[in-house]
Amino acid sequence: MHELPVTESILDITLRHAKTHNATKVTDIYLVIGDWSSIIDDSVQFHWDILSDGTIAKGANLHFERIPVELFCLDCSQTYTPTDRELICPKCDGVRVKVMKGDEFNIDSIEIET
Ligand SMILES: [Zn+2]
Repeated sequence: MHELPVTESILDITLRHAKTHNATKVTDIYLVIGDWSSIIDDSVQFHWDILSDGTIAKGANLHFERIPVELFCLDCSQTYTPTDRELICPKCDGVRVKVMKGDEFNIDSIEIET
């Protein structure tokens, strides 16, 4: 899937952050992943172990926080979490929805040692 470029960008951001703060080691990285982002934790971890080898981020712990999907119905303004991948609004059966949460992929925080 697309975990490789994603992992490369996590490493890139991490190393830049570490350099800015004169870090000697990166210990922890906290990631926020929406349930619909299609990112697989194990795959990120796999690429991470290879890519971070030889950098100060080697051995850093990756923490994954999953964010449930939240949809907003444009017809009745109901906010809800869909079951499976069913988009239909439970209140009015509407299908015009907006994804509020759940497709994001972010770095929440990075912990370093200086
Ligand atoms: Zn609705």
